[in-house]
Amino acid sequence: MTVDYIIVGLGLAGIAFAEKLKEQQRSFVVFEDNSQNSSVVAGGMYNPVILKRFTPVWNAGEQLKKALPFYKKLEKYFDKKYNYRIDIYRIFKSAEEQNNWFLASDKLLLQDYMVPKIFKNENRNIIAPFDLGKLTNTGRIDVKSLSDDYRAYLRKDKILVEEKFDHKKIEFENRKVNYKNVISKNIVFCEGFGLKENIFFNYLPMREVKGELLTIHAPELQVNYLIKSAVFLLPLGNDMYKVGATFNWTDKTKSPTEEGRRELEFKLSSVINCRYEVVDHTAGIRPTIKDRRPLVGTHPKYRQLSILNGLGTRGVMIAPLMAENLFQYIENGKQLDNEFSIDRF
Ligand SMILES: Cc1cc2nc3c(=O)[nH]c(=O)nc-3n(C[C@H](O)[C@H](O)[C@H](O)COP(=O)(O)OP(=O)(O)OC[C@H]3O[C@@H](n4cnc5c(N)ncnc54)[C@H](O)[C@@H]3O)c2cc1C
Repeated sequence: MTVDYIIVGLGLAGIAFAEKLKEQQRSFVVFEDNSQNSSVVAGGMYNPVILKRFTPVWNAGEQLKKALPFYKKLEKYFDKKYNYRIDIYRIFKSAEEQNNWFLASDKLLLQDYMVPKIFKNENRNIIAPFDLGKLTNTGRIDVKSLSDDYRAYLRKDKILVEEKFDHKKIEFENRKVNYKNVISKNIVFCEGFGLKENIFFNYLPMREVKGELLTIHAPELQVNYLIKSAVFLLPLGNDMYKVGATFNWTDKTKSPTEEGRRELEFKLSSVINCRYEVVDHTAGIRPTIKDRRPLVGTHPKYRQLSILNGLGTRGVMIAPLMAENLFQYIENGKQLDNEFSIDRF
């Protein structure tokens, strides 16, 4: 098989890059071994405001400009809904926070999202003595469904190889690479935390952070917006909610833990006071980088090898824009911004 690209990994980064290749009529094959699942377990939220400090997410406007049409195009292609618009209500911890909300909502970058008003808590199952602030123009991508559909589509086209990619088996030949029975001009690694096993790029400083999530059934809660407080509570329909997420910098496994569940349930008890049942518990590793910026670029010695990684805690918003940047860099030599180019390391 001769292709323009091999993609390793089909999380959000791999899907975004594959879509770019499709759009530009480049041929490719994808290797995926299910060793990581960050994209599949993710809450899938997109929200351009950091809700701890009420500040804008880095480059959020540009990211969303690319991301929203990207998911729309996929919805059209698969004739399925992935993007669910959903407002976010942030529970205030104090009168000072209420004040800070008003100050922030006046800023140009945040005006379109932060509603300059205090919303009274009228749901007796929610604990919010200082009431709530509302964010709008936010939403959730059903990444799990998108990922399942994308895999099925590649499988049908026979361009998904469901096995571990072995970096040691790459043979370099002039401007091409041979990998098993594939000859390709480029390999783009979209491996998430799998980067640690990549002998060409594992010098890059990933500071991965594990996250755990619960799914609960809470029929009395009756909420159709996302609540953000000590945890987030995301309605999935049918009285089901996702509750998350933990941040653990030491555990490198993707299995859910008793400790993670206890932490989430403890925090949840400060947000809601109705009955619920835990029906699912998942975990994944976020591919975060020390300076909280993505990893995009080409290997300094092996120019056939490139990387799209470091999407951190916001893969939904950032993946399409970074895929575009990497493609333009590889194909047209368009310079990468030093903030996310791997040349900064
Ligand atoms: C609990 C949790 C909640 C989150 N919530 C949100 C959220 O609400 N909004 C948001 O935007 N982001 C969220 N994130 C972050 C988001 O999930 C990540 O930014 C994003 O998924 C990273 O995508 P990726 O494609 O880089 O990595 P991954 O999703 O990890 O994909 C990498 C893929 O590469 C494959 N792979 C790796 N090595 C190999 C190999 N050698 N051979 C073959 N295949 C390989 C893996 O199996 C995997 O499928 C959350 C993450 C977690 C863990």
